[in-house]
Amino acid sequence: MIQKIYKEFNISSSHKLDLPYESKCNRLHGHNYKIEVSIGGIVDSNFMIMDFTILSKIVKYFDHKDLNDLMVLDRFYELEVQPTAEMLVIRIAKDILEWHLVQKEKTIKGLQIRAWETGSCYADVFIQEKEFPEFLQSYVTNLEILPMFHAGGIIDPQDMVKIKDEIAAKSGDHIIESK
Ligand SMILES: [Zn+2]
Repeated sequence: MIQKIYKEFNISSSHKLDLPYESKCNRLHGHNYKIEVSIGGIVDSNFMIMDFTILSKIVKYFDHKDLNDLMVLDRFYELEVQPTAEMLVIRIAKDILEWHLVQKEKTIKGLQIRAWETGSCYADVFIQEKEFPEFLQSYVTNLEILPMFHAGGIIDPQDMVKIKDEIAAKSGDHIIESK
């Protein structure tokens, strides 16, 4: 039996894209994002899939921030990340799954994150349990320089070492390295 939890958040953040063509998005501006998080899974010994308070800390980390500052060092499949809605949902998913990786009880079986950038535009990401390892290898934040950027700074630095080891062990190499 799989259950689902859902929570929505309203955050205000600024960003500026660097598109290779003329676009209003290349100028610094802000959005009132609505973020919707759905997590499917099984309950742990506290009868929770994930504590809503922890989820809030992870998502609210992006509130009243410049997304360029938070995502400037991120890489997705070796590419430098731009703070689009597509990448914001992926980054939030990564932060949640990194938190999950260091939990003893593995409750999350899949998740969906939606970021409404305006009242009519959103980006979604869906990730299933079998995709977690590859996903965590694909999205890389520079752990050495910005350890506090991970999962809203709620992950203990000791656990960050564990996360790196676990991801490296699953991938068979050490792709999580500083650039
Ligand atoms: Zn924008």
